[in-house]
Amino acid sequence: MKIGFIGLGAMGLPMARCLVQRGQDVCGWDTNPQNLDQFENKAESAEQLASDGNVFVTMLPEAGDVTAVVDQLLEHCCETECLFIDCSTIDVESTHELAARLQALGHGFVDAPVSGGREAATNGALSFMIGGQIDNIARARPILQDMGSNLIEFGTAGSGQAAKACHNMICGITALGVCESFALADALGLDLERFFELCRGAAAQSWILENRCPVPGPVLAAPSSNDYAPGFAARLMAKDLRLAQQAAQTTDQSTEFGAAAARRFREFVDSGNGDLDFSAIYRSIRE
Ligand code: NAD
Repeated sequence: MKIGFIGLGAMGLPMARCLVQRGQDVCGWDTNPQNLDQFENKAESAEQLASDGNVFVTMLPEAGDVTAVVDQLLEHCCETECLFIDCSTIDVESTHELAARLQALGHGFVDAPVSGGREAATNGALSFMIGGQIDNIARARPILQDMGSNLIEFGTAGSGQAAKACHNMICGITALGVCESFALADALGLDLERFFELCRGAAAQSWILENRCPVPGPVLAAPSSNDYAPGFAARLMAKDLRLAQQAAQTTDQSTEFGAAAARRFREFVDSGNGDLDFSAIYRSIRE
């Protein structure tokens, strides 16, 4: 099995390296030469990668990028039954279309978006939310296991992206709750270090609070204590909340708080803050 890995950015590069460290035969490709150069075993072109591989992992920014790369690979791949594993975060509808198109051509498809960020990607400790046909998931599992420690299957293709949208909606809503509560605590003159200690050990505890405490000081490794360098960029949070709203529109379920979070993060990004960690939204709430 030869794996072609496309998209060697913040997440893709450490994920591809994890695969190499665990003995997989991986060739990488990225249109950004600087990112491509960081990977030890790089392809000369997307065409070369396509003709050499029979399993392709994509870790790309948007649905349009994934579709464009899959089109490029299909044009040049030589194998008849390739497996495409998309780990990018994209919308459910595009994923359904992609899966149907690949299936019609005799190829396998699995959507496996991730949670965990760059640190988990480096340590092979990502969570994967998986959708696809059972036989395709069985082929993808050993590869995903080399990059993650928490693999959860949700059903047919697209269900991984649906789970990711719901999961990140929790993160976005929680982040705003944590930020607003810290802003009020500050406005009421509370000691924020003590307030953090209280929340960490009480019912308000959460991953967001512990890892993305929005005020500088209580958590030295958190983006807030490091000029809000990401972490998880606010533009990605805004994107994920937009995808959750897109998914919600295909159902009759109202997502009032998710919609409010999507709007708030969109405004924050549109004000030029997209590259800051999402926890920087605290500053716009406290001002
Ligand atoms: P990134 O922008 O750092 O990396 C994307 C890479 O894809 C870049 O190197 C870019 O040059 C490359 N690329 C774009 N179009 C290409 C093409 N046509 N052919 C080849 N390469 C191409 O993004 P990232 O942070 O690594 O995120 C990737 C995906 O993972 C996104 O969908 C994101 O929402 C999701 N995600 C990111 C994080 C995170 O913490 N950064 C966490 C979970 C999920």
